[in-house]
Amino acid sequence: MPFTAIPEIGEFGLIDRIASLVASTLPAVPELLTGIGDDCAVFRPSAELLQVSTTDILAEQVHFDLLTTPLQHLGSKAISVNVSDICAMNALPRFALVSIAVPASFPVTMIEELYVGISHAAKEYGLAIAGGDTSSSRSGLVISVTMIGEVSPELITRRSGAQPGDLVCVTGSLGGAAAGLKLLMREKEIMLNHIENNEPYTKSVISDLNEYREAIQQQLLPLARIEIVRLFHAKHIQPSSMIDISDGLSSDLQHLCRHSNTGALIHENHIPIHAGTRRIADELQDDALTWALTGGEDYQLLFTISKERYQAIAENRGISVIGEMTDPESGVHLCDMYGMKIDMESIKGFDHFSS
Ligand SMILES: [Mg+2]
Repeated sequence: MPFTAIPEIGEFGLIDRIASLVASTLPAVPELLTGIGDDCAVFRPSAELLQVSTTDILAEQVHFDLLTTPLQHLGSKAISVNVSDICAMNALPRFALVSIAVPASFPVTMIEELYVGISHAAKEYGLAIAGGDTSSSRSGLVISVTMIGEVSPELITRRSGAQPGDLVCVTGSLGGAAAGLKLLMREKEIMLNHIENNEPYTKSVISDLNEYREAIQQQLLPLARIEIVRLFHAKHIQPSSMIDISDGLSSDLQHLCRHSNTGALIHENHIPIHAGTRRIADELQDDALTWALTGGEDYQLLFTISKERYQAIAENRGISVIGEMTDPESGVHLCDMYGMKIDMESIKGFDHFSS
């Protein structure tokens, strides 16, 4: 058999291969309505209720850098990224299992810090930490969270289900998490340079990060949009499709279109980007739109809804309409400021295994 390195097939290619290997296990459990391929698996324990479940790994040096990440924030983020996937199904989280692999050299207080963050976030979202596992690690800290949530069958929302003509909506603003990451990377470089040159890393060399507070917070302490799901439930809204933006708007919109068998046309000047994010992009001579499209980790909700149903949430200022679903033949495009259509496939999102 020829040797294939993982980057050759990419993260999504790898998931496809795993999915085909486990497909034969699915017929044994007919109550499992959705397996691999959505934000959560969907299980029907009874006719009135659906259970959704998801799991996420955060690995040191892949997803976080302990030099720039306080452990309480990291614990909170590990919970939030899972809640975000639960929310993407229009469901609410109930409980989680948290497993860690940790180098034996870590002081106990560091792990306590991590769990202070985990518990704090869990309480904010109204979910319980029900168990987990601990192991030693020879290659840094690894955190794995498995989360279970619930939703009624009339409200469950998958990636599939969007129709041509549905509005494409996004919550909050995009690109802020990428801006925060760039700032933290710049700060780390300054710090390492000082250590290398044997100069003290004192207050005078630290940039005043206060003015960047919001962007850094979006990177280190993202919040899942659970209040949007509560709004949907209060108004009895089932979006036609939904996903959380973890890889970037470009890649996550393409997921919705592929699963729903639609195209989409979105407009650059409707994409919500915070003024602070644009300012940081100017300062770093980078591009805020690229961050919004491919930066990822914003954990906002991207959903589609019919024009009629949209009226029920039109007054919410935290939801932006950025475009419309189209026929699948039209493809997925971004219409820029000058009216030029750019193929979204040429705008790549994040792949964990690409080099
Ligand atoms: Mg997701």
